[in-house]
Amino acid sequence: MKMNSQKTISKLEIIKNQISEQEIRAGQKKGSVKLIAVSKTKPMNQIEPVIEEGQSHFGENKVQEAALKWQEFKKKNKTIDLHLLGPLQSNKVKKVFGLFDYIHSLDRNSLAEKISDEAQKKGFCPKIFIQVNTGLEEQKAGIEPEKLNDFIKSIRKSLDLNIVGLMCIPPINDAAETHFKFLKKLADENGLLELSMGMSSDYVAAIKCGATYVRVGTAIFGLRH
Ligand SMILES: *Cc1c(COP(=O)(O)O)cnc(C)c1O
Repeated sequence: MKMNSQKTISKLEIIKNQISEQEIRAGQKKGSVKLIAVSKTKPMNQIEPVIEEGQSHFGENKVQEAALKWQEFKKKNKTIDLHLLGPLQSNKVKKVFGLFDYIHSLDRNSLAEKISDEAQKKGFCPKIFIQVNTGLEEQKAGIEPEKLNDFIKSIRKSLDLNIVGLMCIPPINDAAETHFKFLKKLADENGLLELSMGMSSDYVAAIKCGATYVRVGTAIFGLRH
């Protein structure tokens, strides 16, 4: 970009360019990696300019916050796809339906059953990622990797859920790529096609390892307070 260029390139554009470049390098089709703009804690007046730039996938961590920000907005903007990235309590499942299009944090049987029950009542189901605690961190949500295959088997056998892939958040101090490659291997073993991995600091590495959804907040919206 020229120093004296009138139009400055936005943060969103920078990231989209990076993603396109990685898609080409990895020999993947253009648009095969989806960018989720993580708008948690940010008010709608900071989110709307990003929508006007053409962004359609957004991520939130909390059901309550998302309902306040997006419930009405989504009725008028049908092209928005909303992703729940944070942990989900069973008593909030009802609220998720009709608000979120994707859930990234399924990690236990009781929750799977709740979602399945609600899906039967409503006649539709959000797309679901199973969160895997690849770093075996006590404070982190996600199913333990060694329990994953049985969990998926039991869901496929007895529940009617739309499981599309796996999600992970690597431990802060580990090399993220080790976890991304591990998650890819687990997805392959289970015939799952989608991988939700990579944040502001490591989404490029995640795409190299096979990410199909990257979740980027800070690099688009700036620091959170
Ligand atoms: C906040 C959050 C992100 C975005 O993180 P940044 O570092 O701001 O890009 C991605 N995924 C999850 C699960 C998050 O909670």
